[in-house]
Amino acid sequence: MTGNVLAADFKAEPFWWEDAAPFRHEGELPAKVDVLIVGSGFCGLSAGIRSLELGSSALVVDAGPIGGYASSRSGAMLSSGQKFLLTGASQSFSAEQVDAASRLHAEAFEFVKGLALKEKLEFDFQQCGRVFLASVPADAARFDTHAQVLRSRAGVSARVLRRDELHDEIGTDYYFGGMVVEEFGGIHPSKFGRALARSFLTAGGLAASHLRVTDVARTGGGFRVETARGTVLAKHVLFATNGYTDRAFGYLKSRVAPAASYIIATERLPAAVMAEAMPRRRMYSDSKRNLWYFRPSPAGDRILFGARPGAMLVPVDEAARTLHGFLCRVFPQLRDVKISHCWTGNVAMTHSHLQQMGSVDGIHYAVGCNGSGAAIMPYLGRLAAERMLGFRATPTLFECSPFKAFPPYGKYPWFVPLAVAGYDMLDWIDRKRASLKEVAGR
Ligand SMILES: Cc1cc2nc3c(=O)[nH]c(=O)nc-3n(C[C@H](O)[C@H](O)[C@H](O)COP(=O)(O)OP(=O)(O)OC[C@H]3O[C@@H](n4cnc5c(N)ncnc54)[C@H](O)[C@@H]3O)c2cc1C
Repeated sequence: MTGNVLAADFKAEPFWWEDAAPFRHEGELPAKVDVLIVGSGFCGLSAGIRSLELGSSALVVDAGPIGGYASSRSGAMLSSGQKFLLTGASQSFSAEQVDAASRLHAEAFEFVKGLALKEKLEFDFQQCGRVFLASVPADAARFDTHAQVLRSRAGVSARVLRRDELHDEIGTDYYFGGMVVEEFGGIHPSKFGRALARSFLTAGGLAASHLRVTDVARTGGGFRVETARGTVLAKHVLFATNGYTDRAFGYLKSRVAPAASYIIATERLPAAVMAEAMPRRRMYSDSKRNLWYFRPSPAGDRILFGARPGAMLVPVDEAARTLHGFLCRVFPQLRDVKISHCWTGNVAMTHSHLQQMGSVDGIHYAVGCNGSGAAIMPYLGRLAAERMLGFRATPTLFECSPFKAFPPYGKYPWFVPLAVAGYDMLDWIDRKRASLKEVAGR
């Protein structure tokens, strides 16, 4: 498209907030509480709900609105740990450890599915299937092995698609093959966060938004937690701060690296355009190192497209233009479509590429979504509450893998843009090689 790709009513905030915005909740701070949780995303709220179920009082404190960061900005494609299995993160683990991680991720998926189907929380859970797309032929060639791994480890029905079969799944010639997993799906992340918050508050949980925890220090029987609105004494403290971890818990900050991702939403699209681009309204992601991920909105009338626009952080209107360009490479037929929303949010990377939970000096943590946390982070919060309160005797794999520090960094980890730039270059070379081979083969 030439000219402005932004719709006249373009908003630099998540499309999700149209239906379910994160909210302010500034209740009185209690002097004492059994469990104080820092962070009100999927992880913190789920830990809060579990703490209440286990008979403890619980306070969730967030520096921003309730559920206002990654959890209401997510692409919200729901799956059970395929990243861990397919990206090589599992290579340093024994077979037993891979089994344990696979089991935990499958439990996490079932947990979130159960919240929708059994507990009847409303967050647009859709078990619509997900298509993994090969950016280059070499990636397509690996899908047979990937499908076997997913079938045997994650217990799902992964099916490989040849390039000439892709048109049943997606209206593009951009990719070289695919793999469908029928069991995976998507949710509305901001509705999910709000549903968790409602469950927590209804069950007697306390919450304080727009309040940063600045320090935690041990006392005789627990911890003094410092905030701008006063001190709270807590028997247990859990940091569920993921990609927004700050200096309040220095140990944790040095071990998670925030990495920003951006998403655009298109304006409403005619049914025929959607049917051609996404005939089965699945979730989609590709095999690039800096992957592109995209999906229909829950109503099926817009496309949401996520990516990192480049190595450096950029303003969202600039990111919107770059992502529109990426969208048009996949779907050239959308070149005249305008962008109604663009937003950004942080995921948290760890050295191990695995989620991490545990405690240091008695302070607990549950972090490290590594880009894929819609299912595992709420489950990790639940596991962390059970471990912290002594209701789960055996440590999970997420406590047993080494939690290594990154090189020191200030507000932004300087090494993330370097990695993104390197990956962008390798992705570009791979595509270039693939297209040269294709031309030579004609
Ligand atoms: C753009 C984007 C796309 C994504 N797409 C997908 C996807 O398609 N599928 C998928 O599975 N996952 C996806 N994810 C990841 C998933 O959304 C996250 O893993 C998940 O939401 C993390 O939840 P959380 O509760 O751990 O963290 P968050 O929701 O980020 O919550 C952490 C909270 O901690 C608070 N906090 C930090 N420090 C303090 C402090 N000192 N005092 C008080 N509060 C503090 C922050 O304010 C924040 O609200 C995506 C993430 C992003 C950003």
